[in-house]
This record gives sequence, structure tokens and C-alpha cells, in this order.
Amino acid sequence: MIPCNDSKRLFNRYKDEFEQAALDVLRSGWYVLGNNVQEFEKEFAESIGSKFCVGVDNGTNAIKLGIQALGIGPGDEVIVQANTYIATVLGITANGAAPIFVEPNEFFNMDENEIESKITEKTKAIIVTHLYGQATKMDKIISLCGKYNLYLLEDCAQAHYAEFKGKKVGTFGDFGFFSFYPTKNIGAFGDAGAIVTNNEELYKKVMMLRNYGSSVRYHFELENGSNSRLDEIQAALLRVKIKHAKEITNEKITIANKYLKGIKNDLIKLPRVDKDCGSVWHLFVLEVDDREGFMNHMLSCGVKTDIHYPIPPHLSKCYEKLNYHAGDFLKTEYLANHVVDLPIFNGMTDEEIELVIKAVNSYGK
Ligand SMILES: *Cc1c(COP(=O)(O)O)cnc(C)c1O
Repeated sequence: MIPCNDSKRLFNRYKDEFEQAALDVLRSGWYVLGNNVQEFEKEFAESIGSKFCVGVDNGTNAIKLGIQALGIGPGDEVIVQANTYIATVLGITANGAAPIFVEPNEFFNMDENEIESKITEKTKAIIVTHLYGQATKMDKIISLCGKYNLYLLEDCAQAHYAEFKGKKVGTFGDFGFFSFYPTKNIGAFGDAGAIVTNNEELYKKVMMLRNYGSSVRYHFELENGSNSRLDEIQAALLRVKIKHAKEITNEKITIANKYLKGIKNDLIKLPRVDKDCGSVWHLFVLEVDDREGFMNHMLSCGVKTDIHYPIPPHLSKCYEKLNYHAGDFLKTEYLANHVVDLPIFNGMTDEEIELVIKAVNSYGK
């Protein structure tokens, strides 16, 4: 059976480097906020093209702390795409602000033409999610943020090193948020995340917020600080991944290109990439009318498939009190019922890729 993901394969490729990095930390006796976190922050910021980076404990808290640092809270609204992962929305509501949903375009990203009508006096920020690895078309979103004086935030949890017009995502606005959950394109060996920014003042603020609201030991300055630190072992392991980021990223792009070239089936809608928007193919997402039938067919061919995501945030139980209903966001709800993703992971063999293509092409035949 071909799995949807297999983190062990990439581990095995750079096994010696990972084991050495972890062992060095274990033997150093220094496990929290040490040299590895500092070096990771420098190296990741540089690799993204951002001035500053703060390592944090996961992607959800990266979003939460970033929004907190901007002073966004109760009574404020944040515009977010309706078909994003729940964590983007949790980062907004954890601060007491209200999510205002916008439908996606045909590339699964925020539809730039749907935003302006959602802006009100209460709107404080727009957060785009570069979903499935594809960069969002940023021009119009940037100009709307300028016109209405809104913060621009990017959820880059699925799009490490993706580029819009040659510039990496995470560098367009006030904050870029990253997750290094093990199955993300750049994954840690546990939970980890990061916030990047070009703004020194905001950088200093999130540095404090992740560490009890303090920058000088036992001087607690910021309200509602938390412990959201990245740990030394994850930072050391991530430094190995950053070193090999180009190969890791290109390998997934190569698999996606093989799928795009090899899959030919009228019952399947292939993912498209917008002009100027690069994709690093975190996920390879198809649309199909009879999703259950397709997934069963794939299983019978020895291929696992997965769904990201079957229930959109506005219909999730946790947001019942926001009072949204089925039918409020038709495009998003259509996608929730019809998207399905194929296996795409580092270390996939050519035979496996071929088998997946054959299985998709034989669906309905
Ligand atoms: C994974 C993910 C997150 C959350 O990251 P964690 O590290 O799992 O907390 C946020 N947004 C998106 C789009 C994600 O895919």
C-alpha cells in the first residue's frame, strides 16, 4: 500500500546528520533557548529573505502570538479565507477577534475580488493562507491593505519557500507564520513553528510574548505572555532540513510535475497554478464528483488518498456560536465535499509515482 506520507524516508536520507544534531544537543546540557534556536532563527530568516525570525512551539501559536502582538482582539475583525485549515481561524478567535470569511478562487487561495466588500470599520487585518503550497496572488491584496490601513498576515504553514513573482511567501506583509509539523514541507520531529517579520518592533514583541512576556529575566512586561518557545532539539534538527531545503522542495515539485503530465482522466479535475504564483506542492489536490468512489478505487489499486479538509471552519462545531449555516460559502462547501489528495512526499519512488498515475487513469474505466 502506498501511504499518503512517510516521514521516515527523508529521515533515512540524512540520518547521520539528524542523529548527530540531536546527540549534540543531548550532550550539551542546554535544552531551551540556546545556540541552536538562535542559529535556526538566523538561518531560516535568511533563507526566506526576511530580516527577523522567532522560533515558536507550533504553527497555531505562531498565528496566535502574531495577532496578539498587533493588539487585535475583541471587537476587531480579521479577514480569512473560508477553506483554510482551522488553525488559521483559531489564531484569530484565540485573541477574541472575529473571523470574516472570504471564498477561494479556482486555485484554492483567497479570491482577491471577494475581499473589498467584506471590509468594515472593524477590520484590522487580512490573513491569507498559501493553501496546499501555492503562493497567493498578492498584488491586489497588498493594495487593499494599503488603501484601508490593514495589517497583512500570511499563513505559510503549507508553503515554505513558495514564491509570488520571485519573492518568497511570508515576506509580503507584517508577519509570515510557519509550521514545522512533521508532515509539512519542512518538518520537525515533533511540533515546531516560526514567525518571520521585517519589523524590528514587532519582532521584539513576539520574542517577549513567546517567553512569558519578558525579555530580561524576571522582568515581566507584556500582558498575557505565554510559554511558546521552540526547543533546542527541534531547532537543531530543523537546521539540517534548512540546509537541504532546496532538494527537499524540488523533489516534491518534480513529483507534482509527473502527476500533471501523466494523469489523464476526464472524471478528474487536476490542480492548476495561477500566473506568477509558484507552488511547492505541499499537497496534490484533485476534485472529483464521486469522491468516495474514487478513494475506494484508489485503495483497491493499493494507493491511500486523503481529504484536506472535509469540514470547513464556518461549519465546525467549535464555531457554532458564530451562527453560520450550510450554504453560506458555497464554493468552500463544494470543495469540502469534492477535494481529495494523492500521496506526495519526499522519498517516493518512481515506481510508486507511476502506480499512482496508473491508478488515477484507470478510475471509471
Ligand atoms: C498545519 C497548519 C497550521 C498549524 O500548524 P501546527 O504547527 O500544526 O500548529 C496552520 N495553518 C495551516 C494552513 C496549516 O496547514
